[in-house]
Amino acid sequence: MQGLSYYIETFGCQMNEQDSLRAGSCLAEAGCRQASSPHEADILIVNTCSIRRKAEEKAYSLLGRFRALKKKRPGVIVAVGGCVAQQEGAGLLERMPQVDFVFGPHHVSQIDRLVRRSRTDGERFAVVDHVTDSVEDLECPGISDRGGLKAYVTIMEGCNNSCSYCVVPFVRGRERSRPVRSLRDEAMRLTEEGVREVTLLGQNVNAYRAPDRQGFRFPDLLEVLSRTPGLRRLRFTTSHPKDLSDELIQCFGNLPPLCEHIHLPLQSGSDSVLAAMNRGYTCSEYLEKISALRAGVPDMAITSDMIVGFPGERVEDFRNTLEVTEYVGFDGLYSFRFSPRPGTRAAARRETVAESEKLRRLHALQDLQKRIGLEKNKGLEARKVEVFVEGRSRDGGQWMGRTRTNKIVNFTGPEGLMGHFVGVKILQGCRNSLRGTLDLEEDVS
Ligand code: SAM
Ligand code: SF4
Repeated sequence: MQGLSYYIETFGCQMNEQDSLRAGSCLAEAGCRQASSPHEADILIVNTCSIRRKAEEKAYSLLGRFRALKKKRPGVIVAVGGCVAQQEGAGLLERMPQVDFVFGPHHVSQIDRLVRRSRTDGERFAVVDHVTDSVEDLECPGISDRGGLKAYVTIMEGCNNSCSYCVVPFVRGRERSRPVRSLRDEAMRLTEEGVREVTLLGQNVNAYRAPDRQGFRFPDLLEVLSRTPGLRRLRFTTSHPKDLSDELIQCFGNLPPLCEHIHLPLQSGSDSVLAAMNRGYTCSEYLEKISALRAGVPDMAITSDMIVGFPGERVEDFRNTLEVTEYVGFDGLYSFRFSPRPGTRAAARRETVAESEKLRRLHALQDLQKRIGLEKNKGLEARKVEVFVEGRSRDGGQWMGRTRTNKIVNFTGPEGLMGHFVGVKILQGCRNSLRGTLDLEEDVS
């Protein structure tokens, strides 16, 4: 493997990004180096996402381009990982002659061995069985992160819920949590390497159960990790509203590194749609959790996911979605058109909302959120906020960083601020970001 180069293209969520980092780290340990483009690489890996049809199509289109590349350089190895790989298995090999092997999300940390096998045997294969009795594949030795300041740490994987529209339980399998000891050690190692912000990842982090300590749950883990020397900011994603406990709500405001932001997907403002989605809560139960969060931390930033055009969603159901969006005043919203996924219960239901109507509802929701987002950001004008400086702004002329509430701030300031925590006075709230200037009275680094 020494001297070979690899190129990984990633689709989908942060969990996939993390899996790709892990795959890259495994290949690097085996002596490979990262190629800057697919044209230079000996190993091409596509880490796919199947959450919606559009994501899947993007991966297929890239694989089409890799087919042309393989025609020119037959020695190149093409591997497909991630959720489409898990879903389609060996079927992908039949449909795509350019693919050498297929591997599911539970086999990411074996990527070096899989490449070796493909090169020596020359046979095409698929490894997509679910690992259920171990979490070793979630460990990722050697990864700090991009830029060395922020890092993502997978704490659990899989999902035991059964939201009727979702493929995650099929492709990622049952929930598995990593031991506290290993997570604590990883957080220590990362901060020793200079990381100041850690985001804990899992499909449903609230379902975390330490396998090495009985009764030890997610709020306990937050408490332990908050004590990591050098850790200034701690975040997590994603949490399921039905599992958001009072203990977890109380962590906000009480654990100093835990940032005042939660991503809490609602999915719909209609109780009948929520029931058809099998989400396990009503809209008013969701709103009670929001009130409890804001009672503890009034300025808490809340972001969410919403699906429009679910089978059976009536105009009045969608109106409820708009109303609740307005009422909560989300700081950010990811909204999607319902996409029937193979094997899910929702895909077996008759679609009642035409694609054009789904699009109309999506735009109405997005327009509303644009206004709310702008109002929220305008409300921060003249305020002073703590910013963790991550780099230069897009145009390169200013510094760019994030508030504890995860809002992007572009601001003017002198050289040498990279990696510092600084006080910034907000001058202007824009739709997707804030503009400010360094507050010289308050250096919080
Ligand atoms: N585990 C998280 C949760 O329970 O909210 C998020 C999982 S998923 C990676 C991210 C988002 O994709 C979901 O919150 C949902 O809004 C959206 N999504 C999932 N399946 C979908 C589908 N079939 N059609 C449209 N959107 C979907
Ligand atoms: Fe999918 Fe629901 Fe699990 Fe989230 S909680 S991953 S939406 S099944």
